[in-house]
Amino acid sequence: MSESLGSGPVRRPQTTLRHQLAELRGPATAPRPLDARALAALAANPGCKRRALLDGAGVDKAALASALGAPSGFGQSQFAFMRGNAFEAKVKADGGMELMRLLGVAEPGDVRVPDLAAAGPEGRAARTALALREATAAGAWSLLDHPMLALEVAGSPAYLEPDAVVVRPDGRWTVVEIKSFPMVDGSADAAKVGAAARQAAVYVLALERVAALTEGASVAHSVLLVCPKDFSNQPAGSVVDVRKQLSVTRRQLARLTRIEDIAAALPEGVTFDVAACSAEQLAAAVEAVPHAYAPECLAACELAFHCRDRARAADAVEALGRSVRGELGGLTTVGAVLAAARGESGDPDDPAVSALRRAAALRAESLEGACR
Ligand code: SF4
Repeated sequence: MSESLGSGPVRRPQTTLRHQLAELRGPATAPRPLDARALAALAANPGCKRRALLDGAGVDKAALASALGAPSGFGQSQFAFMRGNAFEAKVKADGGMELMRLLGVAEPGDVRVPDLAAAGPEGRAARTALALREATAAGAWSLLDHPMLALEVAGSPAYLEPDAVVVRPDGRWTVVEIKSFPMVDGSADAAKVGAAARQAAVYVLALERVAALTEGASVAHSVLLVCPKDFSNQPAGSVVDVRKQLSVTRRQLARLTRIEDIAAALPEGVTFDVAACSAEQLAAAVEAVPHAYAPECLAACELAFHCRDRARAADAVEALGRSVRGELGGLTTVGAVLAAARGESGDPDDPAVSALRRAAALRAESLEGACR
């Protein structure tokens, strides 16, 4: 089951859109699944059609960035990956008893752990929805290990896999996020907790669609974050309220332009097939899709170094940050800002221009004073 977020009716058969998206990423390339982390990043920058299209088409943005000569700094070492997997197995060991303890449940009785195996993401999402319904009807504690949730975003399906979902006897479903960053003295790095909360909010959003069709079910707007305690491999749990992230994510995802509309506006023959195109062709293809660069991209998107280089080369004020960009109004290049500050151009009645001239005069005055 999937729910649509994004505006406008479906105007084209999904098979045509799928074919078009396959052409964009390269017919021989398997699509990269759109996960909760990518959706949270999309929600943080809903104005970027470039990211929306590349993610919707399942393009491997890390490979694309490398082919463009601007590799991203993202990625996890094999060692960190294995350590993360071992920690997650420890948290879920003993039939979910450790997780129950972290949830504050001392005597859960038998914890049901349903088998969620099925073919393909659609099959797994259907199996998960059925398991959630059965667990809710059973009125007992259940642990769904790596369930699959479906959410349609901007006309393109996304399949999301939380670490776990716990179903309580009263029918309440709780998302569990297991992370490998440490929780020291009961608190963890705020930026990392914030990123985990945004990711968990996407899971809550997808779970709510299933809960709406399940009698007696509700989804908790607080998630359980589990991290290693004080650099050990002992798990520590913290309940994180994601109501704010949930409402922001819901609103931002609904604002995304439909993937098919972005694709329809592309010139003929555009493709992001890294196996078949030169760096110049790929750069031209990427340039054909409007973007919305901001310094925040550096922490969220694999193409950030490429987009930043282009923004700097175009002298665009976007490279200075969203708040600066907002305050500069109609001045869109650094050159125009400097010329306005020097009094060479710009409308003196424009508040941005007059503020720049005042700042330039104050700077000149203070430099003069310093030289005396
Ligand atoms: S780095 Fe580029 S593609 Fe990625 S979100 Fe920012 S502007 Fe969009």
